[in-house]
Amino acid sequence: MLWGDEVEYLVVTYSKDDPRVLLSLRQADILKALANDESLSIDGGCVPDLQHVGNPHAKKQLPVFHPEFGRFMLEATPGKPWGIDFKELLNVEPDMKLRRCIAKDHMLQNEYPITLTTFPRLGSPGVFTDPYYPVSGPKLRSQFVPDEIANPHIRFPTLAANIRSRRGRKVQVNVPVFRDEKTPWPWKDPTVNYDMHQWPEDDDVRNGAAPDNFIHMDAMAFGMGSCCLQITFQAKNITEGRQMYDQLSPLGPVMLALTAATPIYKGFLADTDVRWNQISKAVDDRTPEELGEKPLKNDRWRIPKSRYASNSTYISTDPRLRPEYLDPNLVIDQEIKQQLLDGGMDDRLATHFAHLFIRDPIVIFNEDLQELDLSKTDHFENIQSTNWQHMRFKPPPADNSIGWRVEFRPMEIQITDFENAAFAVFIVLITRAILSFGLNFYIPIVKVDENMETAHARDAVLDRKFWFRRNPFPVRPSRAVQGSRPASGASTPNGGVSRPPTPPTPTGPVEDEYRLMSVNEVINGTAYARSSSTTTVGDGDEDEEEFPGLIPLVESYLDSVNVDVVTRCELATYLDLIRKRASGELWTTAKWIRHFVATHPKYERDSVVTEEITKDLVGAVIIIGGDDASQQGVEDNGIKDENSNKKRKGDGGHSVLEGVPDLGRLLGRFI
Ligand code: ADP
Ligand code: MG
Ligand code: MG
Ligand code: MG
Ligand code: MG
Ligand code: MG
Repeated sequence: MLWGDEVEYLVVTYSKDDPRVLLSLRQADILKALANDESLSIDGGCVPDLQHVGNPHAKKQLPVFHPEFGRFMLEATPGKPWGIDFKELLNVEPDMKLRRCIAKDHMLQNEYPITLTTFPRLGSPGVFTDPYYPVSGPKLRSQFVPDEIANPHIRFPTLAANIRSRRGRKVQVNVPVFRDEKTPWPWKDPTVNYDMHQWPEDDDVRNGAAPDNFIHMDAMAFGMGSCCLQITFQAKNITEGRQMYDQLSPLGPVMLALTAATPIYKGFLADTDVRWNQISKAVDDRTPEELGEKPLKNDRWRIPKSRYASNSTYISTDPRLRPEYLDPNLVIDQEIKQQLLDGGMDDRLATHFAHLFIRDPIVIFNEDLQELDLSKTDHFENIQSTNWQHMRFKPPPADNSIGWRVEFRPMEIQITDFENAAFAVFIVLITRAILSFGLNFYIPIVKVDENMETAHARDAVLDRKFWFRRNPFPVRPSRAVQGSRPASGASTPNGGVSRPPTPPTPTGPVEDEYRLMSVNEVINGTAYARSSSTTTVGDGDEDEEEFPGLIPLVESYLDSVNVDVVTRCELATYLDLIRKRASGELWTTAKWIRHFVATHPKYERDSVVTEEITKDLVGAVIIIGGDDASQQGVEDNGIKDENSNKKRKGDGGHSVLEGVPDLGRLLGRFI
């Protein structure tokens, strides 16, 4: 059971002499430097720095760096997927630190890799990239970002241009603005230029593309320029892969809300906390007919969602998957489905693939159209990789035996590697608990869609409720669950799992199987939620049956397997972060960023995040996220950080970073 994480970075330039922090567009040079570094292939410049955090694999498995859509982005994965051993889970955080350190080592003195989901002033008037390029280019035709913002590899600008041309106008990424005390209301995005006449698309804003009270953006880069944290799991076979895909699907929106980290767009505070819908809109290539704005004439279907969206169907052969959970209005290509059925594929999986194939390929290389090579899966991968859903079912490519994989994609990237490791490890552990206990999180897939919307609300983690299954236990509880129940009850505040599960009636009304729960209830269980009162949505309704909570389920699972004490204690620090984020004891990244802006002396309560605020925010993020190697550079660049070299975990805990406010509210463990 291999698995692997992906971490995405923004590359910024920061120095004390420059009043602005900028996006560095040197992705290609940085990747080239990484690829050409022979010393890196031997031991990596950063390995000695990491020995004290005990990564035994550091020398053998150097991380892999990948290009991304934005020319200011990088992606890094472990050099080799992680294995099944619990001790491996402790290598994730050091490996993430190693990646950050190696990346920094191949950048200029004033460049830093940071893990913010979005650059706060991407697309703001003035200069936000280094080097500067003027708008507007023939590919994006954006009035806010230059074409040079995208990775220059022909695939990326072509993707953007083809989405725009298929759609017949520019993409429209409108995010509600956060209304503060002094925000003019109704609010008109002051950065929109109504007088441009360079491209036909310049008419978009004159035709109402930029409504009042919304931050208006008009290019793929505003979505695909965001960073996230993705986890890919190998399944032991296709059946298990299909089960994992289904069972992790309902967790997506909850994890999106819990990892919320995106409160700023284009220099303004937004009224939403997460990136998801913005990416969705930024790559929405649907035509007016597909959108339902015009009667169907040339197109085949009305399509309710963008090609970047929460997934729309379940695929498992699990008998607990009731037909009522599926969306009766799912759009599929019937001919493709029939072809797949004729080839021997079962109905559910054929439906899944026939749904992916309602999308046109947006980029195809000429060479791939010369002849059809049936020994390759490139054409499939082309459709698959531009169906950006919150789960991805990854069949093995034709040319290797990598296995059936499932990718969990909704989570927002966090500022520190500690947090990113915590969320990665949590998803690994809950996946293992699902498989080991046979847990059942099915709810109707349209309720997952609804939850995805809910996750966008400001502070959804505390203020909103999500549809979730009442009873996650299998009809007949497995021996493992029964056996571990007493232990987990004891180890859980208020005996979260102590109540015996009532087997659901598989034939009862589907509506009775799920109800609204807070993130606190889902993650920590109803009993814990009642006792931790930070949340604002009435937790733990007395009349409701108890929900055990995902963390208690993970703890039951850990109780049921052999984990050494040291590993268990380390894992506990990760679970603690998740627990406290869900209960509100710790802040989400979004909340911390909002607080940083709100308390900045130059903030004028008008929703505007100025260059100066952005510089200070990114400066703080560099300090918090940086490892020792990049700390060196930070000091050279004038960020005050007296304690940075002592902030490792396990060094006594006295490591509050001077000058970074409220770090304890974000991370808990540094105070
Ligand atoms: P993509 O961008 O298509 O999602 P990447 O190659 O960037 O794919 O990342 C995939 C992740 O999957 C990496 O973390 C990698 O370590 C991991 N991985 C590689 N092989 C396997 C495997 N057989 N099973 C599970 N995970 C794997
Ligand atoms: Mg990747
Ligand atoms: Mg990718
Ligand atoms: Mg990526
Ligand atoms: Mg991925
Ligand atoms: Mg760190």
